[in-house]
Amino acid sequence: MSLERTLSIIKPDGVARDRIGSVYDRFERAGLRIVAARMLELSRAQAESFYAVHQKRPFFQSLVAYMTSGPVMVQVLEGEEAVQKNRDLMGATDPAKAAPGTLRRDWGESIERNLVHGSDSPANALCEIAFFFGEIDVFSRTPR
Ligand code: ATP
Ligand code: MG
Repeated sequence: MSLERTLSIIKPDGVARDRIGSVYDRFERAGLRIVAARMLELSRAQAESFYAVHQKRPFFQSLVAYMTSGPVMVQVLEGEEAVQKNRDLMGATDPAKAAPGTLRRDWGESIERNLVHGSDSPANALCEIAFFFGEIDVFSRTPR
């Protein structure tokens, strides 16, 4: 077991539908502690940069439009195996294919409007945390 941090985003559909508290409740029940959080609206350039890995995909422009359509809630989660644990809580990208009891199955609207983002590897988690937060913003709540 290893103590990790991961980056989570509640996407514009989740914020607009007042799901922040419900999503945080799932994190805390699973042992993922919120150690930094901020609400912001992504600019087009920021959304394009964050999802740059998908820039050649047919859904890229639509994804950027969606991610800039309203405020998002961004948080750093800390806990044992936090990256995989958060991915498990989220479920598959397409809510229709996500397992019962996952965030996307319960509250995702479509393969694009799928409620949450989570880092997909510890290395990407480090990059994504640094995209949104400075060292001083991230609190450590777990003794090391
Ligand atoms: P995320 O990176 O947001 O945590 P993910 O890792 O499950 O999600 P990715 O393959 O990285 O999925 O896709 C990034 C995002 O692009 C998805 O979360 C979704 O919002 C959107 N997306 C992915 N595939 C499609 C698709 N086929 N059609 C429309 N939007 C898509
Ligand atoms: Mg991804």
